[in-house]
Amino acid sequence: MKNKSHTPLVNYHSHTYRCKHATGEVVEFVNAASEAGLEIFGVSDHAAFPDDRWPDVRMRYEELDDYVEAVRAAQRSVPQVQVLLGMECEYVPEFKNYLQDELLGKRQFDYLIGAGHYTPHKGDWLSSFTELNCKPHLKSYTEHLCQMMESKLFAFIAHPDIFGCTNFEWNAYLNACSREILRTAEETQTPLEINGNGLRKKYLKNSDGFRPPYPWRPFWELASEFNIKVVCNSDCHLPNEVVAGISENLELANTLRLELADLSHLSPG
Ligand SMILES: [Zn+2]
Ligand SMILES: [Zn+2]
Repeated sequence: MKNKSHTPLVNYHSHTYRCKHATGEVVEFVNAASEAGLEIFGVSDHAAFPDDRWPDVRMRYEELDDYVEAVRAAQRSVPQVQVLLGMECEYVPEFKNYLQDELLGKRQFDYLIGAGHYTPHKGDWLSSFTELNCKPHLKSYTEHLCQMMESKLFAFIAHPDIFGCTNFEWNAYLNACSREILRTAEETQTPLEINGNGLRKKYLKNSDGFRPPYPWRPFWELASEFNIKVVCNSDCHLPNEVVAGISENLELANTLRLELADLSHLSPG
């Protein structure tokens, strides 16, 4: 008889003070992760870009060395936790080589998270938190997320249901967009993240009552119709949030019979 496998407590999504909207240095997060019993802790601050675009919510390019060194130092000082070097990246096609050759290649990042906090639309970038409130913008978001998955650069996609911030009621168009995202996740075998940070944001009221902006349950109900895998992370921006939201989202995944992704192939390089 096979042993019932033990599911380790893991978190692959975390930030540091460098992104300017989080507090704490890597080692503080990793110490908190150790205390919380996490076996794997992925550090994934918002990625710098060579042209320092969107500087208000991410580190500058010249801070990269220091970031990598802070993760390496935490790996040495807290060996009981497997600490991974990652980054949460916007997908900017013109910087594909930077992500691939410099971060994953030369600098030996263990993994990258793909995230659409911004949506390319008609030559400009929209905020996915505040501007996915009409069909053309949702269409651009959907196409953007699909291209991100097709790039094959990312270990998983963060909060694919971020459009829950600006859409109150579920509708047929959201259903169609979600199906396209889920179909591409299935085809490219890209895991999708059920994100814990959404649970810590202000709840919205719709006809079903109060709900977090994300995870938005109808998206994940639909996900259960596809052959996809999910990953539940805290997306912590404070050391006391290292496991926040993970158990709630594991319960959601379990209720909807969503299979957890096995990311054990990501290991400190
Ligand atoms: Zn953040
Ligand atoms: Zn995010």
